[in-house]
Amino acid sequence: MGSSTGMKADIESALKAGMEAGRAAHGGKNADYIPYLASVDPELFSLAIITADGQVYTEGDCDYAFAIESISKVFTLAMVMEHIGPDAVRDKIGDSPTGLPFNSIIALELNNDKPLSPLVNAGAIATVSLVPGESADECFEAILQCQREFAGRDLAMSAEINASEQSTNAHNRAIAWLLESAGACYSDPVRTVDVYTRQCSTLINCKDLATMGATLAAGGINPLTKRQVMDARYVHYILAEMMMEGLYTASGDWAYEVGLPAKSGVGGGILAVMPGQLAIAAFSPRLDEAGNSIRGQAAVKAAAASLGLNLFKAPCQ
Ligand code: GLN
Repeated sequence: MGSSTGMKADIESALKAGMEAGRAAHGGKNADYIPYLASVDPELFSLAIITADGQVYTEGDCDYAFAIESISKVFTLAMVMEHIGPDAVRDKIGDSPTGLPFNSIIALELNNDKPLSPLVNAGAIATVSLVPGESADECFEAILQCQREFAGRDLAMSAEINASEQSTNAHNRAIAWLLESAGACYSDPVRTVDVYTRQCSTLINCKDLATMGATLAAGGINPLTKRQVMDARYVHYILAEMMMEGLYTASGDWAYEVGLPAKSGVGGGILAVMPGQLAIAAFSPRLDEAGNSIRGQAAVKAAAASLGLNLFKAPCQ
């Protein structure tokens, strides 16, 4: 990417390539283990690119607000990382991929009931249990405030999504109790799952998601508000986790094919970050077997390829 006019044209054609690739990607289905998610229009589709210096490009249904779901894990991890530091995160939660589905119980059993990764449900529940606060409300408010700082606007939890998730989260409760029995749930497990479930229920649109990613791309400075919202020294740890586990069992294929740290959620959102440059976010509800948006992956992959972005490629390649 060269001059700023050249860059504008490059990003516009990347968006176009992403939209085309997304529209051509068929198959999959909405997550249905959370009733709300099953009811979302499966054809919704949006794509956004935001640069580390705050240029915003959007396409498609970018006003539609969807559930953040597992993408929330990234920002709570950022907050806890600042609170306890990267060594304690590794010690108390883990830092490696599980190679198993995001809500796997076997993954816990194979690792002495420790989560291994902060970006699977078990690790994210352990992460939430490390958020300081006297009550569930206080912890959740801190998490929501962190999500707002990354998005640069006043986000809110959807009571409807939260109710839908709270009534179907027995599996996550089981995970929390297993963590508790292994000494890896650092607050009351019932309260922790309540807060974890709430953090998944925040409504964001595609532009919010791209802003959250662009903040990581810009070393923790939100490019729209210009506020330093996390310590720049910890951003690379978060991106490393995204590279290893951000797309769950598809993370290896994603690294091989796309080469950008990314994170998906079962609400249909997906976010990829090119450090120092920009973030690409997409939303579309139909998911593959691993729980990643089919159109979203195709769109982000095509947009990144169009811009020649891949962490493992030298700029001339
Ligand atoms: N709330 C969802 C869950 O806990 C989030 C999972 C996801 O997005 N992968 O199952």
